[in-house]
Amino acid sequence: MKATRSSDTRALLASLSVRPLKRLGQNFLCDENMARWIVRRAGIGPDSHVLEIGPGLGALTEFLAQEAGRVVAIEADIRLYGWLKERYATCSNVSFIHADALEVEWASLFDPGASWMLVSNLPYASGTRMMMRMFEMDDPPSRALVTLQADVAERLVAEPGAPAYGLLAIWRGRWFDARMIRAIPPACFYPPPHVASSVVELRRRSSPRCAPRNPEHFRDLTRLAFMRRRKQMRRILLDLPVCMRPPDGFVPEDILRAVGVAPDARPETIAVESWGALADLLGQARDP
Ligand code: SAM
Repeated sequence: MKATRSSDTRALLASLSVRPLKRLGQNFLCDENMARWIVRRAGIGPDSHVLEIGPGLGALTEFLAQEAGRVVAIEADIRLYGWLKERYATCSNVSFIHADALEVEWASLFDPGASWMLVSNLPYASGTRMMMRMFEMDDPPSRALVTLQADVAERLVAEPGAPAYGLLAIWRGRWFDARMIRAIPPACFYPPPHVASSVVELRRRSSPRCAPRNPEHFRDLTRLAFMRRRKQMRRILLDLPVCMRPPDGFVPEDILRAVGVAPDARPETIAVESWGALADLLGQARDP
């Protein structure tokens, strides 16, 4: 039995004695046309290696299995994992892992150096963390097609100056160009979520927009700055903790101008390249 409509999904869950868990963001896609569309849009072929996070009842897995050379799906819910294993037992190109995807080294699931992509309807509860994790990878996937809560999708694709621009967009921008592809209404899921969802396409660039010498420093700087996003950059630099500041006597205005950032600019207007240059320059001034 495969889930195609809300009533089918409900019946399948009942037959498995599964009540959807909010904690795991269990809103199952029950519109087969939408699932088919997402997989087609992912442009998958026999050479594609695909990671799916949270296969659930296999709404996407069904079509991924038909198109991709290899599908690895990580499911946190043991009840669904057991059902999936049985349902796809004869599909030699599909394998399931029972784990919290945030605890798994994603790249290690594929041959070293092989290109792979992520296609997932991410759980609302942890979609942002999943994305941040992907952006922190040294060698992230070549593409991703992800369905997320609409406001998270907005933050993911935002460009400098947009109200939704923040850490998620900056971290995304290091490696990926992003495009909002389409909205998915709540009625396409069971149970229907309270908010709309959006599909976002992420394409890895041939080289990163910025490759900070010290990624930890870059991460700390951007995090601290966005905790005070209404402040001007000159103030933000002056208030950096001692361990992140250059030695006494530094002039924030000089450092900012050196990387092309106006001292009165606010974090939400600064492009990822400038964040990288700023993190490097501050690090260099501190540890020459
Ligand atoms: N892909 C299915 C679909 O489109 O209907 C299910 C999507 S549902 C929004 C999210 C799925 O992710 C659920 O099956 C849930 O159990 C699983 N999940 C939630 N948190 C997870 C985690 N940390 N690691 C792996 N799977 C997780």
